[in-house]
Amino acid sequence: MSLLGHYAVDYLIRPLPKYHRGSRVGAGAAILVVFYLLITIVITTYLRLLYNVSRDPGLLPRASPPTKEETATEPSDRRHRRNGCRPTPQQTEKSTSSDEDVEGGLGHNAEGGAFPLDTSGLEKFYTKDVFVCQDDGRPLYCSTCCNYKPDRAHHCREVDRCVRKMDHFCPWVGGVVSETSFKFFIQFVFYILIFCAFSLIICATFTAEIKRETGGANVHLAIGIGLSSLFGLFGLGMTLSSVQLAMLNLTTIENLNRRSAVWTLAIRVPSHMLSRLNPESRWAPTFRTITYPLPPAPLNPEAAGEYQPPGEQHVFAILQTLPGENPFDLGSSFRNLQQVLGYSVLDWFLPLKQSPCAERKNTESFFELGPVVSRLKKEAGLNPA
Ligand SMILES: [Zn+2]
Repeated sequence: MSLLGHYAVDYLIRPLPKYHRGSRVGAGAAILVVFYLLITIVITTYLRLLYNVSRDPGLLPRASPPTKEETATEPSDRRHRRNGCRPTPQQTEKSTSSDEDVEGGLGHNAEGGAFPLDTSGLEKFYTKDVFVCQDDGRPLYCSTCCNYKPDRAHHCREVDRCVRKMDHFCPWVGGVVSETSFKFFIQFVFYILIFCAFSLIICATFTAEIKRETGGANVHLAIGIGLSSLFGLFGLGMTLSSVQLAMLNLTTIENLNRRSAVWTLAIRVPSHMLSRLNPESRWAPTFRTITYPLPPAPLNPEAAGEYQPPGEQHVFAILQTLPGENPFDLGSSFRNLQQVLGYSVLDWFLPLKQSPCAERKNTESFFELGPVVSRLKKEAGLNPA
């Protein structure tokens, strides 16, 4: 692509004798300035993307697998459900291939019944007001990492870890594009597109002019047109698809079955309504509930039913969206884009600040929630005080 700079000098600023033209310093200088400006921003966004992918990819910690003693004291029914945390190669393959069910809260959780022996690590879920859960109200669980998964986390087989709001594994940067790097990925492919479009226009203009004046063609410019078109089309496709996903507030993985996905959510029952859940109350709730903290394991099912957790109770309604609804869609494409790109024009175009959705300032849920959740609350009668 330095071809363009070379021609700006040899053709416009100090034209070679074969072109039979006068010097056009202004046009040549302008092309050189724009060219180096664009190449600088392409390289900068690529380096920013590379930095975030390698230094802060949003990997979730792996927990230690249970000891032999723990496994031995585990009730057989629970051992069966848990799927094991020390996976054999076959089990690893099974858990990975079933990730589409468990991951992303996409509904039916065929493998979603898996859960660990102890209940540690649940505090960061039940201290929120809403989180994605399995059908029984427990958070989604990764049996490979032996850990609960925050909303929208996905197990990536390439890095063998769960990744927060994973989008895809990108061979171009050798890592996972996720909530910490999706913004810079969009910026990178967008600037690739702009750079290629600029190169294509200039190469095509030079070619047309040379052909008109000399009747010949320039093989280097023809190669420039070919390369600019090829990479430009790649940039265009990637930019359009990435921006569309950001506008819908979806990841590439969530987009795979977005039209049929059903999200199961645990939504906190407001404290002033807890007394109404009493069986003697006249209110008949339309939903199942789960109360945290959960009883410590191992505990037989009868004892678990009578278990009264010490201290504050956190009661959640277990509700499901309709197929194709996205609880993270904020109801406006612009607001969804802001969650990824930022709140100012500078944020949108410069690879400096982190995405707002990766800052995790929202204490009520892992990600900001949209009108779908408001509607579910209203329909279930979970009115705020
Ligand atoms: Zn995992």
